[in-house]
Amino acid sequence: MIKADFHVHSNFSTDSKTLLENVVQKGISIGLKYLCITDHHDIDFPQSFDIFHTDKAFQLDFDSYFKSIRELQLKYSSKIDLLCGIELGIQPHLASKALEITNKYSFDFVLASSHLVDGIDPYNKEYYLGRTEDEAYSSYFKYIYENVKVFDDFDVYAHLDYPVRYGPSRNIHYSYRKYADEFDAIFDILKEKGKGIELNTAGIRKGLGYCHPQNDVLMRYKELGGEIITIGSDAHTAFDVAGDFDFAKILLENLGFKYYTIFKNRKAEFIKL
Ligand SMILES: [Zn+2]
Ligand SMILES: [Zn+2]
Repeated sequence: MIKADFHVHSNFSTDSKTLLENVVQKGISIGLKYLCITDHHDIDFPQSFDIFHTDKAFQLDFDSYFKSIRELQLKYSSKIDLLCGIELGIQPHLASKALEITNKYSFDFVLASSHLVDGIDPYNKEYYLGRTEDEAYSSYFKYIYENVKVFDDFDVYAHLDYPVRYGPSRNIHYSYRKYADEFDAIFDILKEKGKGIELNTAGIRKGLGYCHPQNDVLMRYKELGGEIITIGSDAHTAFDVAGDFDFAKILLENLGFKYYTIFKNRKAEFIKL
């Protein structure tokens, strides 16, 4: 079984109510060897999209986050390797602010992600207004490319095709082939910079029938020599920790992957599938 979940949230994220310790205990109870907490931090998250009605949506309280993780690392050191990561929202014009964060704090793992494109979350229907779904998806992928071009201090890019969860027809008309230029450009630069992608099993939970990114995108990543791949449930509850990891294992094996990746102290380690 896959023994490392590298994308998990707790109530340090605005969109989760789950106590960190409950997440850790769930990981232990199902036999995980590694668990990397990756709570959200989205620099300049626009308050107009704040459906949670807090005055600092997706702004991580770094000091108390580190303190809590360090305490649990000690408490459960004999049971699980608990790692401290971050899901850091990247936008090209905020790259220097993102770098300040990754320089200041000693994360084990930096999971870059795009929840905002020019300040709008594809989760909101406003993102699709005035353009076709193809244009909206293509803009998202191009934005990731812009991000990976200007920002280097991350390890893996999260859920590459996140908007297909929320677009008007979701993933019905979506395929790698349709956005081949955008994906190939992203993969070329990730390879050049020694970065990876994640297999995010939340796609199954969200009813897409696939992980993020979709199988044909994963296949192309592998074809272009991509080897660094972490596996994450993107759980926002203890229940979802390591969700659909059996499916993920079979999928990766079928695609020809022999290893998956974990990170400790920002260094990749490869674990046999
Ligand atoms: Zn995310
Ligand atoms: Zn997440």
